[in-house]
Amino acid sequence: MSGTVVMKFGGTSVADAERLKRAARRIVAAREEGNNVVAVLSARGKTTDELVGLAAEMSDNPDPREMDMLLSTGERISCALCAMAINDLGHRAISLTGSQAGIVTDTSHTKARILDVRAERIKTALDEGLIVLVAGFQGVSTAQDVTTLGRGGSDTTAVALAAAVGADVCEIYTDVPGVFSADPRIVSDARKLDVVSFEEMLEMASSGAKVLQLRSVEYARNHGVRIHCRSSFDDSTGTFVVGEQETMEHPLITAVAHSTDEARLSLVGVPDEPGAAAKIFSALADANCNVDMIIQNEPLEEGRKAEVSFTVPRGDLRAAQEALQPIAAELGVESIDAVPEMGKVSIIGAGMKSHPGVAAKVFQVLAEERINIEMISTSPIKISCVIAAGQVPTAVRALHGAFELGADGIVAEAPIGEQAR
Ligand code: ADP
Ligand code: ASP
Ligand code: MG
Repeated sequence: MSGTVVMKFGGTSVADAERLKRAARRIVAAREEGNNVVAVLSARGKTTDELVGLAAEMSDNPDPREMDMLLSTGERISCALCAMAINDLGHRAISLTGSQAGIVTDTSHTKARILDVRAERIKTALDEGLIVLVAGFQGVSTAQDVTTLGRGGSDTTAVALAAAVGADVCEIYTDVPGVFSADPRIVSDARKLDVVSFEEMLEMASSGAKVLQLRSVEYARNHGVRIHCRSSFDDSTGTFVVGEQETMEHPLITAVAHSTDEARLSLVGVPDEPGAAAKIFSALADANCNVDMIIQNEPLEEGRKAEVSFTVPRGDLRAAQEALQPIAAELGVESIDAVPEMGKVSIIGAGMKSHPGVAAKVFQVLAEERINIEMISTSPIKISCVIAAGQVPTAVRALHGAFELGADGIVAEAPIGEQAR
């Protein structure tokens, strides 16, 4: 045996029978090279979206526990079908749910966090020579309910299993050839990155580059898992996510990331008193809403009221509004205004730490495109601007061009959109 690999196939890569069979052949090839193989599969194509749609037909506010019962089925279908294909190829496979695979999570339904991976069953199956298929994106909570890990969560399943079984590499097979300098579906000359540091990948993922789920990158960094993000359509080498010391080059800017799924909430007329913000954000935290950017406009005159604005993922908007109502009443807030159609554009680069002037250039580029910046946040290696969702593609292209991140006029290896879909 040469080692253990974890291979994760995303939704597009298992979308139909032909693609599932292709994934099965790839899994078998890894096994025939002498590896122990654990494969994590996503739900086929748009299955998860369709399941969300089914829930919406039933209820405006579906019970999160039942949502997880529903959503977890998509990946189970993929695994069972793939096991059938692998068995037909003359190998022995066993499919497992997240729970059977020993993935234990907390109880926050629809965005649970992995607490522990009890991989004994997987290890026994590997010892018996089986190929193990694990349904991604799910686990079992400490209260013994089925949970899901948030959209894109199969990446995290794969990384957590790679850590638990001591895999040499966690291969994330997806519908693009790796991690690019911007979403290749928006920027036609985006450049494939050979390596990207955990630090930069964390910022990219938290800024909306959904090629890897944020938690998978956190988990990989914390547990020292080597990620290789690559195409499921060919054998080309993709992108390795590695420790900062392993990255060869430190360009000023590495990538532009974006999101079109933000919503802004503003509380108008918040009393200017200590503890008001603490109450507001505690209520949001208790409702499990991920608050991103926050701006508080302090009144200039004593006794005047403040305005507090912040962004949340659009999917959390309703929960946030509900959580805020009692607090707003208690504080005597005048109104809670919501703008659902917001987006965010971010530039990321470890090199910007030591270079002043990057923010000024970002603002200049957006101004030239007549794009209004509503909120700004920075980290040592990132600058993010909240803008209208509809202006995001223009902003991404303009920044990618202005910072010369393109593939030097080399056209991307293949027309990515066509190759994938
Ligand atoms: P999967 O179903 O395989 O998990 P996802 O749709 O979750 O795939 O993630 C892959 C998609 O991420 C790509 O199709 C691409 O449109 C998008 N993406 C966004 N930003 C980037 C980036 N910087 N590099 C590569 N892909 C990106
Ligand atoms: N099927 C889930 C989703 O669409 C999880 C995943 O694909 O990673 O978000
Ligand atoms: Mg994904």
